[in-house]
Amino acid sequence: MLLKGKNALVTGASRGIGKEIAKRFIDEGASVWGLATKPSEGAKELASYAAERGVSFHEIVADIGNAESVTPAVTEALKASGGFQILVNNAGITRDGLSFRMKLEDWESVLRINLTGTFLVTQIVSSDMIRKRAGSIINLSSIVGLHGQGGQVNYAASKAGLIGYTKSLAKETAGRGVRVNAIAPGFIVTEMTDVIPEDAKKTWLESIPMKRAGSVTEVANAAVFLASDLSEYVTAQVIGVDGGMGA
Ligand code: NAP
Repeated sequence: MLLKGKNALVTGASRGIGKEIAKRFIDEGASVWGLATKPSEGAKELASYAAERGVSFHEIVADIGNAESVTPAVTEALKASGGFQILVNNAGITRDGLSFRMKLEDWESVLRINLTGTFLVTQIVSSDMIRKRAGSIINLSSIVGLHGQGGQVNYAASKAGLIGYTKSLAKETAGRGVRVNAIAPGFIVTEMTDVIPEDAKKTWLESIPMKRAGSVTEVANAAVFLASDLSEYVTAQVIGVDGGMGA
């Protein structure tokens, strides 16, 4: 029980990596507030999963790309929870396309949700963590933010931005008991990667030294480590969970 008695806020918890992070946190004894754009089956499953284990799961419905939606929702959850010791900024989108024909709207929505959304949620939660001198913030970046990827200039820029954001915020908060780290997953099987065309998937898989895609559980295990006291001297880091792709 690495997270016993802790409260965690996980954005994008309705499915994919975020849902698995919420589940693993529950396994480790945390109560979880999971945010997504709409009520979901995933949230219902997590609520019963938590109840069976004597902790709680609370669904938050908000759009992290819209300050008018997310600010009151997170402020209210913060008040109701009594404070979060863990924040996972996991919600994210892709709107892929080649740069020369990318619509401004696709550029802006990816930056707004992946980067500005993280800033908005973190500003609220981190203020409370700093006051209490304790907290772990985990941002979901990507291998693409470190190495780039044709057809994903908007997504790569947002994920590279999250790395600069992570390291800078870590420097601001390190002396105040708050750690900030990023996870850079490689190719993980979720709905986000389901939409990648088969030939592109094949090329990706061939480029992975471990010759296979990763699972949501493998990413969630890194999140458990960063959220727990096992990583108490770890801040401003980017941890790759990528089967060696980043080498
Ligand atoms: P996913 O299956 O597409 O799930 C995305 C999650 O984000 C959903 O819960 C979704 O909620 C939520 N979300 C999207 N836009 C939102 C918004 N405006 N406000 C609030 N919530 C929003 O994605 P995933 O594959 O699990 O990826 C999770 C994170 O890991 C992302 O940041 C992604 O960039 C990163 N990542 C993934 C991979 C991969 O291979 N899968 C690799 C590297 C990095 P709704 O259900 O309401 O839409």
